[in-house]
Amino acid sequence: MAVLPIITAPDKRLEAVSAPVAAVDDAVRAQLDDMLETMYAAPGIGLAAIQVGIPKRMLVIDIAREDEEKQPLFIVNPEFTWVSDDDKVYEEGCLSLPEQYAEVARPAAVKISYLDYNGEQKELQADGLLAVCLQHEMDHLDGILFIDHLSALKRNMILRKLLKQKRLVEAG
Ligand code: ZN
Repeated sequence: MAVLPIITAPDKRLEAVSAPVAAVDDAVRAQLDDMLETMYAAPGIGLAAIQVGIPKRMLVIDIAREDEEKQPLFIVNPEFTWVSDDDKVYEEGCLSLPEQYAEVARPAAVKISYLDYNGEQKELQADGLLAVCLQHEMDHLDGILFIDHLSALKRNMILRKLLKQKRLVEAG
């Protein structure tokens, strides 16, 4: 397993629409393992493959608290099969937008179908933090960042800050 570099915004690669995974084989599992290690090292609670430069529809999530046992979820080719009518607002962050947080409204509960680590078809119903995390990570598969749910004013403010950070890093 390896910790991979995480792409940070603004970066065109984060806008790519990822392609479905043809089969969950050992090569895909190795990538999922690397993604999980990268997410834990960051640390974060969710990571989509495109954030480490892999344009495939897969993601890893673990919303367990530090004092809890790890509960990694490997999710390949996810699709929504149901979303609730009621929304919930949650303050989101993203490993690709370091130190930027904003409130985003999304459906409060969702149901998805996906392939697991062994390529088996699974279903998952989620609410609370897991529902937020699933929707945030599934957005990444379509090239959407949480700031795309904000007003243009707020989005541009965050993007300008990130661009400035990047220039400072490159100059230093
Ligand atoms: Zn993210």
